[in-house]
Amino acid sequence: MRSMIYFSELKRFMNDVVIVGGGIIGASIAYFLSKEGRKVRVFERDPTYKNASFPLSLGGFRRQFFQKENILLGKFAKEFIFQLPDLLETKKNGKPTVSVVPNGYLLLFDNEQAEEQYEALKNHSLCNAGTKNIKAEELPKIFPWISSEGLETATYTDSKVEGWVDPHMFHAALKNKAIELGAIFEKKEVKNLNEIEAETIVSAAGCWTNKLLSDIPVVPQKHTVFRVKCPKHIPEMPLTGDLSTGVYWRPEGKEYIAGSPNSKFDAPNLEPEWNDFEELVWPALAKRVPAFEELKLTGGWAGYYDTNKLDNNAIVGKHPKMSNVYLATGFTGRGLMQAPGIGRGLTELITTGSYQSIDLTCFSVDRVLSEQKRKEPYVL
Ligand SMILES: Cc1cc2nc3c(=O)[nH]c(=O)nc-3n(C[C@H](O)[C@H](O)[C@H](O)COP(=O)(O)OP(=O)(O)OC[C@H]3O[C@@H](n4cnc5c(N)ncnc54)[C@H](O)[C@@H]3O)c2cc1C
Repeated sequence: MRSMIYFSELKRFMNDVVIVGGGIIGASIAYFLSKEGRKVRVFERDPTYKNASFPLSLGGFRRQFFQKENILLGKFAKEFIFQLPDLLETKKNGKPTVSVVPNGYLLLFDNEQAEEQYEALKNHSLCNAGTKNIKAEELPKIFPWISSEGLETATYTDSKVEGWVDPHMFHAALKNKAIELGAIFEKKEVKNLNEIEAETIVSAAGCWTNKLLSDIPVVPQKHTVFRVKCPKHIPEMPLTGDLSTGVYWRPEGKEYIAGSPNSKFDAPNLEPEWNDFEELVWPALAKRVPAFEELKLTGGWAGYYDTNKLDNNAIVGKHPKMSNVYLATGFTGRGLMQAPGIGRGLTELITTGSYQSIDLTCFSVDRVLSEQKRKEPYVL
């Protein structure tokens, strides 16, 4: 009897759910769990989010992937983003906006990559992704600013189902709504998951996951992006990824942002790799878009991808060796767009024991621990 009283007293003081990491993934999980009435506490060590991945991202959302689950998560991202002002309205801040630019994505492939892309298109079609595929020679008819030299095929959307958002505003909207629904965000660095007293613990520590869970192969991978100015501005340009060089770019206000194909594990700091611009990025841009010959570099920054070294795919679900620990990580450059689908999916798993909408079982922790690779080739 005494021990029963003791146990219920203990439960009263124990947290219901603790999320470690208040980035875009943590904020989304906090929102979806709070909506289901769970009492959520988020521990975030740096509420300025200076080095977190999401504020340094390009804000892109797309459905052009190889794996079906990534395509479906991309489709849900679009639905969620377009309904966001209503879904995330709060009494304090009204209807949030996230500055959506639905210019689409255009992905370019050379001869060697074309076969894999034709396979991916079968999955696009099974998922009703609404993507269009054309031979490279036809590209200039639709995108007159492009040179198709050395390309075999291209895939794009032109129905406002892909594009980009402002990552800060997206995060703030999720966080504010989670707080209105009762979630508490607290400044705290978690050194070890054992120090947390909660019925359910969710690790959403981004590229630092491996510091908390040493068996999870997710580590920081530094990526640099440059800001450039060009006399010819093409505001309707989609987010374009040239898979033949790995360079990607999109308009940003009156300028453009372009990402380097180079990346670094074990980078000691987030200093941009400035040499990449002249050595790699500018030549690739000028080859693909002749107007970019006249570019001027105006700035740049670097951020960490939350890279899953096993296969560049997400790791989501319950840790099989810990009774109350779940995790969501390893998004390898697509965590911002996957945040709504992952928040919803993990909430389903925690509250009902299984996935109810998109089946995310393929991202399970077991897959990673038993090293079953499920490669997502489209890392941009
Ligand atoms: C240059 C660049 C471009 C990108 N472009 C895109 C894009 O276009 N589209 C897209 O979808 N994604 C993009 N990404 C990837 C995206 O930013 C990440 O996948 C996403 O931010 C991961 O979200 P997260 O919440 O897991 O990690 P984060 O955003 O890094 O948040 C993790 C948080 O956990 C906190 N934390 C970590 N450890 C602890 C601890 N022990 N205790 C307390 N707090 C802790 C950190 O302080 C951090 O705030 C890009 C990334 C970069 C760097």
